[in-house]
Amino acid sequence: MKKCPTCNKPVQGQDNPFRPFCSERCKLVDLSKWVSEEYRVPGKPISSEPGKDAEDHSRPDSDSANSNSS
Ligand SMILES: [Zn+2]
Repeated sequence: MKKCPTCNKPVQGQDNPFRPFCSERCKLVDLSKWVSEEYRVPGKPISSEPGKDAEDHSRPDSDSANSNSS
């Protein structure tokens, strides 16, 4: 089974119109990345971080990885 490049969740549905993404949202998120890498993705707090050449493509964009905070 393929995984969504955006949220890393397993993509289901052979006739999924949003493949290889799991949903339209993930597709749009990825698209917006390509269209304008400098553009701010809604819902993502970006505070002018330095190191533009450091591409973290392999970084899992999971906001559920905070099970051990404080
Ligand atoms: Zn997804």
